[in-house]
Amino acid sequence: GLTGRLQNVFSKLRGKGKVSEEDVNEAMREVRLALLEADVNFKVVKEFVAKVKEKSIGKEVMDSFTPGMVIIDIVNKELTELMGGSQAKLAKSNKPPTVIMMAGLQGAGKTTTSGKLAKLLQKGNHRPLLVAGDIYRPAAIKQLQVLGEQIKVPVFSLGDQTSPVEIARQAVQHAKDNGLDYVIIDTAGRLHIDEELMEELKQIHNVVNPDEVLLVVDAMTGQDAVNVAESFNKQLELTGVVLTKLDGDSRGGAALSVKAVTGCPIKFAALGEKIDALEPFHPERMASRILGMGDMLSLIEKAQANIDTDKAKEMERKMRNAEFTFDDFLEQMDQVKKLGPIDQILDMLPGMNKAKGIKDLKVDDKQMGRVEAIVHSMTKAEKQQPEIINHNRRKRIATGSGTSVAEVNRLIKQFDEMRKMMKQFSGMMGGGGKASKKN
Ligand code: GDP
Ligand code: MG
Repeated sequence: GLTGRLQNVFSKLRGKGKVSEEDVNEAMREVRLALLEADVNFKVVKEFVAKVKEKSIGKEVMDSFTPGMVIIDIVNKELTELMGGSQAKLAKSNKPPTVIMMAGLQGAGKTTTSGKLAKLLQKGNHRPLLVAGDIYRPAAIKQLQVLGEQIKVPVFSLGDQTSPVEIARQAVQHAKDNGLDYVIIDTAGRLHIDEELMEELKQIHNVVNPDEVLLVVDAMTGQDAVNVAESFNKQLELTGVVLTKLDGDSRGGAALSVKAVTGCPIKFAALGEKIDALEPFHPERMASRILGMGDMLSLIEKAQANIDTDKAKEMERKMRNAEFTFDDFLEQMDQVKKLGPIDQILDMLPGMNKAKGIKDLKVDDKQMGRVEAIVHSMTKAEKQQPEIINHNRRKRIATGSGTSVAEVNRLIKQFDEMRKMMKQFSGMMGGGGKASKKN
């Protein structure tokens, strides 16, 4: 996927102490291909790469201490910029209710998103009203009513015999009369954009004069989602986009192109079918997600300020040569502890969600104390050669450390995972992994 490919490009760069113009060109060629493959609009890709290249080739970057890192940072910032820079907030009318109209093709997630948005607003102490404006799909009204019931938000419906335009008009009045401060109008979609659909949406628009026209698009459809957004925007003046199904394996193209192509910001991202799987869209978070970095960039900053790089390099050398022992493990733990609460650090590391063993460990600082006790109860030989720790030794270690055999077992199992993590971690410190060895 996009993330994996970009990580490859960057791991090559990261390992380099000096970066030449040719290195940058090479990296940008790969970035370009990765983006195109992720279904990002080709014009967007072209401009993006040109911008990053221009900024990367400057003298300050080339002469900096860690040029590879600086370039990754440039890419991260430009990706963020591409998606609108900062978070685009939902409009709020100073004459309530704030009227939000949902639009989009059938199956994009309009009805589901309406419910999710109502829930978000409700959590923010608002009183939303959901409006059943899709009278064409047989189960559409019921679907919204079920959602409304689930979250205890009123649903305004006039059945399927009144026109959606009239339903919308009466719904806004109803909200005014009842002190409801947000009106979310669910509308019908079609399989394709057609005149009739647009005409109806325009009429609703004319009647309720919405503060927000949110286009709901399915991120899985990549480039198509962007084309849909462009067509709707020509006719309706969208105020924002909701990207749905980002939990699926969408290639990222839609997220990266929508703003640049339509000028319309992504306001929300939906990451699942559940009612609370909607969040305000944060370009900077999405950028780091695409780069596969979690909050790695901020972690890198922290680490560079706190970690003894000589030690980190020595650790890395050991790990590369499979010399990493429980003694090193303890020392490494001390280093990592300087960065802050361990679970937060793990969250920031890319790939850590996948390393199951680590996640189950749920290390808090108290548990770290127990882990340290276990390691201290090992003999010198055991620390150096964990593979000799048989069942009897485990029992002895458990007793000695005041823990249980199960805990000892778990730690030894996790030692391996931890090794992997540390390897990744040291790689980030600029010591250079396989890539720098090759170059
Ligand atoms: P509408 O036709 O635009 O109103 O679309 P619906 O709201 O009925 O959603 C269509 C389907 O997509 C439903 O099965 C939803 O559960 C599903 N869906 C909506 N949003 C998401 C999402 O963010 N992730 C996933 N995985 N499914 C979603
Ligand atoms: Mg619907």
